[in-house]
Amino acid sequence: MKRFDIVIVGGGFCGFLVAKKLEKLLPEKNIALLELRKEFEYTPSIMKIITDKKYAEKITIPYTTLKRTTVLHEPAQKLHDGKIISNKKTYTYDFAVICSGAHTPCPLKSEQVFVLKSVQDAFKIHDAIQNAKRVVVVGGGLVGVEVAGELCTKKRKHIVLVEPGERLLRRNSEQVSQHFQKYLEQKGCMCVFGERVTQFKNKTVITQSGKNIAADIVIWCAGIGVDTLLRGGACVNDKGCVLVDEYLRVKGLEHVFAGGDITDVPEEKTAQSAEQHAEVIAENILQMNSSNPQLTSHTPHSQGLLISTGDWHAVFVRDSFFFSGIIPALMKRFLEWWVVWKLKH
Ligand SMILES: Cc1cc2nc3c(=O)[nH]c(=O)nc-3n(C[C@H](O)[C@H](O)[C@H](O)COP(=O)(O)OP(=O)(O)OC[C@H]3O[C@@H](n4cnc5c(N)ncnc54)[C@H](O)[C@@H]3O)c2cc1C
Repeated sequence: MKRFDIVIVGGGFCGFLVAKKLEKLLPEKNIALLELRKEFEYTPSIMKIITDKKYAEKITIPYTTLKRTTVLHEPAQKLHDGKIISNKKTYTYDFAVICSGAHTPCPLKSEQVFVLKSVQDAFKIHDAIQNAKRVVVVGGGLVGVEVAGELCTKKRKHIVLVEPGERLLRRNSEQVSQHFQKYLEQKGCMCVFGERVTQFKNKTVITQSGKNIAADIVIWCAGIGVDTLLRGGACVNDKGCVLVDEYLRVKGLEHVFAGGDITDVPEEKTAQSAEQHAEVIAENILQMNSSNPQLTSHTPHSQGLLISTGDWHAVFVRDSFFFSGIIPALMKRFLEWWVVWKLKH
């Protein structure tokens, strides 16, 4: 058994930032980060790796940039009785932060079916796409639209995007949906609506209604699943999301915080929300180490989202307001550069 003052599980947007902030706010504390990957990955740009493997160098940051945090490349398996249990050891803590993110649950089992969640996933898609002529992208949400956009603006492939709903980007306005549909169709991507993909066999995607779509590979970009260390406990909802209070403390566990995609906070699951959670969690751990803690509450607020389809076209969306073209595309590039730079220094 090993003891740390603070144990963070997951070094993605939320966990990496919490570690960075706590190194500054509480320099005397002994911090551990449990993370499976070797490097931090700037996920909003990983679709670019599908067409350009070298892009990975721009958007990954080694965990060695954390100067006073002990980074342990071990999967945390359980949080139990004030302890975090990994596949190797048990850790005790004064404070724990759970931010192990979400995954994309894919019901199709085939070597030609891919999900896109990490740089490694993007490398696999990059290799598979070389010999593929027909690609089906499943899901017309943020990831599906960006993947389809990346492919149809840069690769000469037959791309079909299949969405079970009636329009793309359902959580945004109809104008935004129409804008992306028109853009993708102009670039040669076929959009199929109202069809739920259920099978993939003999190079054919089959939908619930029986429609067949030819495909050499499938990129599954639909749904969100949470692997929580607290599953089955009192602190998760029926989807497995961790229930948190306004201060992002796990309900019923005063010294355990949770942030990012894993939480039940009713807001868009984005890097931006995860960053906001990290600010609140780091500040609250600082406060809880003081004699008169004044906790900060998290209020979901969106500063807008940049959705890109290829290098030179993106849309900035905030509530019902949006604008499109090269300016948001450049804004997205600048944001990527700025966040990566900030996290490296
Ligand atoms: C392809 C794609 C495009 C996206 N585009 C955008 C975008 O344009 N804008 C935007 O704002 N958001 C975007 N997002 C969403 C954004 O990436 C997530 O909302 C954000 O990364 C969530 O941060 P997080 O810290 O909760 O989780 P993550 O960043 O997913 O980090 C979780 C970390 O936990 C680690 N982990 C998991 N389980 C364990 C375990 N048991 N033990 C130890 N470590 C573990 C993982 O390896 C991972 O590093 C995109 C997501 C994807 C997949």
